[in-house]
Amino acid sequence: MLTNDQLAQWDRESFFHPSTHLGQFARGEAPQRIVTGGEGVYITDRDGNRLLDGFAGLYCVNVGYGRREVTDAIAKQAGELSYYHAYVGHGTEASITLSKMVMDRAPEGMSKVYFGLGGSDANETNIKLVWYYNNIRGLPKKKKIISRWRGYHGSGLMSGSLTGLELFHKKFDLPLDGVLHTEAPYFYRRPEADMSEGDFTKWLLAKLEELIQREDPDTIAAFIGEPVLGTGGIVPPPVGYWEGVQEILRKYDIVLIADEVVTGFGRLGTMFGSQHYGLQPDLITIAKGLTSAYAPLSGSIVGNKMWQVLMQGTDENGPIGHGWTYSAHPIGAAAGVANLKLIDDLNMVENAGKVGAYLRRAMADAVGDHPNVGEIRGEGMLCAVELTSDRSTRAGFSPVGSVAGKVVGEMVKRGVISRAMPQGDILGFAPPLCLTEGEADQIARVTAEALREVL
Ligand code: PLP
Repeated sequence: MLTNDQLAQWDRESFFHPSTHLGQFARGEAPQRIVTGGEGVYITDRDGNRLLDGFAGLYCVNVGYGRREVTDAIAKQAGELSYYHAYVGHGTEASITLSKMVMDRAPEGMSKVYFGLGGSDANETNIKLVWYYNNIRGLPKKKKIISRWRGYHGSGLMSGSLTGLELFHKKFDLPLDGVLHTEAPYFYRRPEADMSEGDFTKWLLAKLEELIQREDPDTIAAFIGEPVLGTGGIVPPPVGYWEGVQEILRKYDIVLIADEVVTGFGRLGTMFGSQHYGLQPDLITIAKGLTSAYAPLSGSIVGNKMWQVLMQGTDENGPIGHGWTYSAHPIGAAAGVANLKLIDDLNMVENAGKVGAYLRRAMADAVGDHPNVGEIRGEGMLCAVELTSDRSTRAGFSPVGSVAGKVVGEMVKRGVISRAMPQGDILGFAPPLCLTEGEADQIARVTAEALREVL
């Protein structure tokens, strides 16, 4: 077996890690962790640490690690048929069964599911479908996409443009033309301290409508949003937000894309975030929770209205010119089938709602009185602790992000993984949906210890 030192050296010499400070990593100035195993909500590494994964990988290992039901299904599929494509009407038992299972769980009004590999490519698919849709409808000018600042939709050319975080644009020449960003529905960062939540929503909706008017409604094709802002800070929407947004979109014939890569398959305590907030999307992006990341798989769920137009498009133009070699990969599909079944069998959607609420209460008890805790928020099995240098003014720290990073580091030393969310000092928690109350207590206790250590 390779020793840790050899692996560590190869890692720094050979491996281009995503979302990593490349220079610091190559020079050995940045942390490195070689992960070897996982069981339940814990991972283990080669240095002998056992860590409670309070972020489920990247909010994706929803059923927890080491589930035999899923790994056996993958092994069986790999043995029987490790690959066949899905082009020109080909399918496998796994991909067809998974389509049926996804559609049985999808919100009302949805028609079909297209499978990709990850959330970023699913959003690339969605934007292509929106453009195709408007071309077939004879609306070739209607192509611009509205996203939100602090939205996260991936890091491809289009999906990275949709993402509303500076780091994903800077020096990449993004966003692409035709992608617009509107205000983040982030009440803690409202423009005026004395604004009520209802007034903040009105302000957001006015900003959205202003943008549409300024750009010309006939040029706006779609609005994309996560039901709850995820990577941008784990921020549930203010009261009345989604009702108001949908009213505006209907008024101007703008497609709604619900990016449910994080919220799909139970994270909010409901099967989809769309059901949680009464969204009626035209397209839904799914990934992560679809397979609990046991294998890469994503999807675009297409609504009835759009499906009719896509069919018309292929009647007029021939087969849809879109597809990946690995679309509906049988191993991913087999993982998905076993994963969705497990989520049902173990009542994980309900557990996410119940234990998620317990986690936020435990967090409030543990750190709610800390002078540097500005807000504790979340929904379902999502929780954020926003740190501030001054509770009364909600001022940030300088440099931004420095404090949350240190707290996360202290937490890992105490056996719990959390995530410092970008563009702020925000501790993020998104544990597997099978978390127990005892494990939630452990996360809250370690957060308090780490906060005391750093601040
Ligand atoms: N959409 C949302 C809401 C996400 O949170 C993510 C990833 O975190 C993506 C899209 C991109 O998914 P992927 O990283 O699988 O490309």
